[in-house]
This record gives sequence, C-alpha cells and structure tokens, in this order.
Amino acid sequence: MSENHPDGFLLHPRRTIGYREARSRTRDYQQIYAFEWDSRELSTQGQRCMDCGVPTCMGGCPIGNLIPEWNDLVYRGLWEEALARLHATNNFPEFTGYTCPAPCEPACTLASNDDAVTIKDIERAIVDMGWEKGWIVPCPPTQRTGKRVAIVGSGPAGLAAAQQLNRAGHAVTVFERDDVIGGLMVYGIPDFKFAKHMVARRVQQLRDEGIEFRAGVNVGVDVPLAELQADFDAVCLAIGALRPRDVSVPGRHLQGILFGMEYLTAENRRQAGRPVDGVADARGKRVVVLGGGDTGADCVATAHRQGAREVVQVSINPRAPEERPEDNPWPQQPQTYRRTYAIEEGGEEAFSLNVAGFVDTDGDGRVNRIDFERVDWKRDRYGRRTEKIVLESGIEQPADLVLIAIGFEGPEVAPLREDRLAVTERKVLDTDARKMSSIPGVFVAGDASRGQSIVVWAIGEGRDVARQIDAWLMGTSRLPPSLQTPNPPSPPRGL
Ligand SMILES: Cc1cc2nc3c(=O)[nH]c(=O)nc-3n(C[C@H](O)[C@H](O)[C@H](O)COP(=O)(O)OP(=O)(O)OC[C@H]3O[C@@H](n4cnc5c(N)ncnc54)[C@H](O)[C@@H]3O)c2cc1C
Ligand code: SF4
Repeated sequence: MSENHPDGFLLHPRRTIGYREARSRTRDYQQIYAFEWDSRELSTQGQRCMDCGVPTCMGGCPIGNLIPEWNDLVYRGLWEEALARLHATNNFPEFTGYTCPAPCEPACTLASNDDAVTIKDIERAIVDMGWEKGWIVPCPPTQRTGKRVAIVGSGPAGLAAAQQLNRAGHAVTVFERDDVIGGLMVYGIPDFKFAKHMVARRVQQLRDEGIEFRAGVNVGVDVPLAELQADFDAVCLAIGALRPRDVSVPGRHLQGILFGMEYLTAENRRQAGRPVDGVADARGKRVVVLGGGDTGADCVATAHRQGAREVVQVSINPRAPEERPEDNPWPQQPQTYRRTYAIEEGGEEAFSLNVAGFVDTDGDGRVNRIDFERVDWKRDRYGRRTEKIVLESGIEQPADLVLIAIGFEGPEVAPLREDRLAVTERKVLDTDARKMSSIPGVFVAGDASRGQSIVVWAIGEGRDVARQIDAWLMGTSRLPPSLQTPNPPSPPRGL
C-alpha cells in the first residue's frame, strides 16, 4: 500500500528542475536543462502525487510507466527501488527523462484544475541518480537459446528491441548504416537537447550484456536483406521514418535551401569532432525555418547558437489558441499554443503562411527571398487540411538560409532493394498484428511502422516487437508487454 501523503498537492506548489536561462544557454551547446537538482525538492514533488484510483497519467504515457509507484518511492527516499520500477517498463529512462514531451503530465488528475505533478523531472532525477550511484549495470542473460536475431537500425526502437531480445537469451546483432550507434538520439536531436554521452554509456551497457554492434553497414546496399534472413533466425527493421518531405515550388534548386535534418546532423557531427561535408553555417545570416514542429524548433535553436542575424520559424497552420477549445477537454492532450524552448531563446514565429517560391534577387544562384501567401484551410472532421484558401499573396521575406522541416514521408525503403516489402497508404512498412512485415520472419518497429513519432513510442515499439519475435521463435514469451499489446502475442502459425 502506498504511504503517499494524500494532500501533498495542497501543501506544495509544482516546482520543476527547469531550464538554464534562455539567453545564456544559446552561447554554448551544453544541455538546455538546469544541470543541478535537489533530491529533497524532488521527494517533495513526488508527494504531490495523489496516487489516484485510476492513474490517468499512466494512460497518457505510451509505455504505461508506473508513475504513481515511483512518485511514492521517491517521496519515501527509496530511489534505487524507484529506478527498478522505472526500468520495469522503460529500457532507457534518460532518453525520455530528457527528451519526452511528457504527454503524461496533461493527463495527470491534478492537471484537470491545478498544476500537474512534475513527472518527467522525477523520471530524469531517478535515472540521473541511478547512473551517478552506479546502480545501472549490465544484466546479461543466464541462459542462451541458440537463436540469432538481426536488428536493422540503432535508434531507440532498435536498441530497446535488442536489449529485450538479448535478455530473453537470443544472440542479437544490431546493424547501423551511420558511423555511430543511436539513430536520431545521436544524429538529429541536437546535443543541447540530449547529450550524446548518454547514448554511448547505454550502448556500452548493451555491449557488456552481449549485444554485437555493426556500424557503417547499410542493409540492402552493403549486405542484402536476404543474406540477413539466411544468417539469422529473425530480422527486425527499426529503420526510422527519415525520408524528408519537400516543397515543390519555383526556385527550390537554389543554393542555401536544405533539409533541416541535413543541417542538424551536420551540427551533431561538428560537435562530436567528426568530419562534416560543407556544414551550413547560419552565422550572420537571415534564417527562415519552414515548419512549425519540433524539428523546426531544433533548427531555430541551432541557428541561434551558430550566431544567425535573425531567425523566423514559419508554420502553414494558424496559431493554436491559448486556452483549451471546448471540444478538447482534460485528459486529452491540449491543442493549445506552446512557446517552444527555441522561441524562448529568440526569433520570431509566423503562422498561416504557405511558400509560393524561392527567389534569387542578385543572380548568384543563392536564395535571397521567399515569397509566401497567407492561407486558411478547409478541414475534414479529423482536422486534416483538405482545401487551401488564399487570403493574401506576394508576402516577401528576406532569407539567406532556408531550412525545410515540414515533416517526414515514412521510412527509406528503396535502399533495402526488397520488392517483397509492402508499405501502407501512409507510406510506412505494413505489418500484421505480430508486427511482422509482408516478408515472413522480418519484423518492424518504431517510426518505420508508426511514422515519425516520439522517443517513448519507439521504446514501446521496440519492447513490443521483442516480445513478438521471442514468441515467434520460442512459441511463447515471458518478456513483458508494453501498453500497446495488453494480450499475449499469438503463437507462430506453422512457420
Ligand atoms: C530533429 C528531431 C528532433 C526530435 N526530437 C525529439 C524529442 O525531443 N523528443 C522525442 O520524444 N522525440 C523526438 N524526435 C523523434 C524521435 O527522435 C524519433 O521518434 C525516434 O528516434 C524514432 O526511433 P526509431 O528507433 O524508430 O528510429 P530512428 O531513431 O530514426 O533510427 C533509425 C536508424 O535506422 C538506421 N537505418 C535506416 N535504414 C537503414 C539501413 N538500410 N541499414 C542500416 N541502418 C539503417 C538509420 O541510420 C537510423 O540510425 C525528434 C525527431 C527529429 C527528426
Ligand atoms: S516516458 Fe514520457 S510520457 Fe512516459 S512518464 Fe516519462 S515523461 Fe511521461
């Protein structure tokens, strides 16, 4: 039984670990979050949790983290026990404790009329302490099954699947086309949002547990998928959804226009001291970021740090309302305006603008201006844009560097050179209920099957696919399900 204080939320206001001061943090590439936290303050924050009969926060967390349990353990000062409960549902709580947009918090019961419990900060504090105290150690399996599994892609989905499958006793090899293991946790998410040593130490833990990593292997190009199938008992494709969406308008060919991901990855490489081909430098430039989402925000924040003259982040959508609309009640995720950490640091936001063309005004082959039109949209009942209404055209915006961050169009399937792989209408890899692709014995996890999403979903997908693969190989699985698969996976069907 919980001993949590029933009225802690009445006694203590919400206090977060918070961020470093906005202006000063743009002078470096260190983490944007405050470095220090106080364990007594975090215990007090844990006391604000009411341990509700129906923990709606857990419903908000895609992997069903046992939030009230670890809140209570932290309140009682039992940090090592809290870490064990955290690891029960999440292989890499620091990946989420630092980067998660925390959909659990708006779902917290307190959030219905008060400030939510600081769930994400408590998660970060538990795992920070776990590393500091040396509680996180390799857990190799005691028995091996003799089965071999290949994982393609080393993002959070691939890594979670690898750790779970290895712990079930299978011999796991992870193939990654980049020169470093970690997927978007390493190349994509900026260093100041997630420090890369946190991936390296997890990869070392996984190595010490017996997992083999092969970086610099582009499956489909360097080694055919069919060869992996022949060499391994099962294959899992955790290749992400990294095909960038483009804008097809006049002037797209001009220099100075690039995908946000190219820009972010080049900066990641530069921060790591690795070779970079012609990294775009925003120093002294007028930067326009196309795309109002999180990748766009990361581009804005990177441009600040590179010393951009001005930065404008442009969204095709209208600005979201400050207050929840009536048809968006708690505990739904609020569809309200949220000022990003990047805009807090500087720059401007512009809404309801659609790109009409890129213009080279001085004839040197580089972009100098973007022409926009102000738009409104007709939408279907799901809120999807169906028809454009142009309200004003000929809006000119000077630009020396344009970063396209308007989303992704699914996984890069073509390099796999495999005609047998079916994709859905949404251009993600098609799977059955067992997460198996259209090729028997080849499974799919993470953004490759969900489309571009968030880290916590990728970890949940990795855990789920591991359970499915284990059941397919062994007839049954003792690996725990994540929230997405409450029922045990079906046994193999004659395969
Ligand atoms: C710029 C940016 C910032 C983000 N910030 C956040 C954030 O703050 N919080 C959050 O929760 N989410 C964030 N996300 C989303 C999150 O990073 C992804 O949802 C998550 O990483 C998906 O994990 P994954 O394992 O499915 O794929 P990925 O992390 O994309 O990893 C896929 C890996 O597969 C490799 N691969 C692909 N094809 C092959 C092949 N043929 N052979 C070998 N390897 C291959 C790729 O090189 C890559 O390393 C962000 C995404 C972007 C783009
Ligand atoms: S993983 Fe994300 S949603 Fe789940 S408890 Fe942590 S911060 Fe909340």
